[in-house]
Amino acid sequence: MKKEAKFWKVLPDNKVQCNLCSHKCIISAGRTGICGVRKNEGGKLYTLIYGSCSSMAADPIEKKPLYHFHPATNVFSLGTIGCNFKCLHCQNYSISTADPDFSYMREITPEDSIKLAKEYSCQGISYTYNEPTIWYEFTYDSVKLAKKAGLYTCYVTNGYILEEPLKEISPFLDAMNIDVKAFTDNFYKEVCKAKLEPVLKTCKLAKKLGIHVELTYLVIPDHNDSLDEVKSFLSWVIEKLGNDTPIHFSRFHPDHKMMDIPRTPMEKMLKIYDVAKKSGILYPYLGNVIHDNYENTYCPKCGNKCVSRSGFSVDLKQCDEGKCAKCGKKIPIVTK
Ligand code: SF4
Repeated sequence: MKKEAKFWKVLPDNKVQCNLCSHKCIISAGRTGICGVRKNEGGKLYTLIYGSCSSMAADPIEKKPLYHFHPATNVFSLGTIGCNFKCLHCQNYSISTADPDFSYMREITPEDSIKLAKEYSCQGISYTYNEPTIWYEFTYDSVKLAKKAGLYTCYVTNGYILEEPLKEISPFLDAMNIDVKAFTDNFYKEVCKAKLEPVLKTCKLAKKLGIHVELTYLVIPDHNDSLDEVKSFLSWVIEKLGNDTPIHFSRFHPDHKMMDIPRTPMEKMLKIYDVAKKSGILYPYLGNVIHDNYENTYCPKCGNKCVSRSGFSVDLKQCDEGKCAKCGKKIPIVTK
């Protein structure tokens, strides 16, 4: 559904500049920006996908992944089409590369999104599957209603949103899982057609704005898996975000235009987990691995298994009101 966009300015010659994400596209009349869903029509910028849903489901919040945020609840998850990144390994390319004429779209209102979340017995709402930033206008209207309705809200994002839109939505946005896809600009340029620095800036700003932040780092063989690169990333997290920031190291499987890259060896995943622990990260996790031990939350003080996770089943019995049941240490888990 077409609607006038937020965050843009008029330029000479009927051009506009979109100021929603760090690409800051300059768009000629009749053209769309890099994301393919924001169009200059007659010198005005429009979103073409307001309320246009490609996917919706009730998911466990752990699937986002968010482990320290309303554990063991269900979140109503919505996605649209398009993306401002061009990741060669995209796992949702059927929607991220679709154009606005995509035939499997369902048009909904922000009110519908809340109604559906309640109907699906969800405690929160999440904008996910493709990049939510490029769906800003709809998600903004939806999160405002969600907060009024007592639902929590989250973005699962590549972190390319600019400062002004993030600040504007932040009073209504409770959590973000931000992908840090690698820790080199070269990877971002070659694999995602983007830059690293704006993503790091968003992580810091989100934290400063009081949004709950968890990070995901997808480990791709020979692309971003060198221990030096991972260590640089970990040092940055500890210095800028804090060692209590949950980090999900996820195992790569071949997809989209990276079918020739093998799955990440399990030994590498375990090594990275070990490096993260030794570097002082308190809550590292491994994703896409069949091994229960690496999804649990351990007390940093006494080692007690405070939260057990297996698949999407969660046992919180050892985390009594946000504290380790054995030694009483506070475990940072948002529940309200
Ligand atoms: S949201 Fe889309 S149009 Fe706007 S700057 Fe980003 S990629 Fe370009």
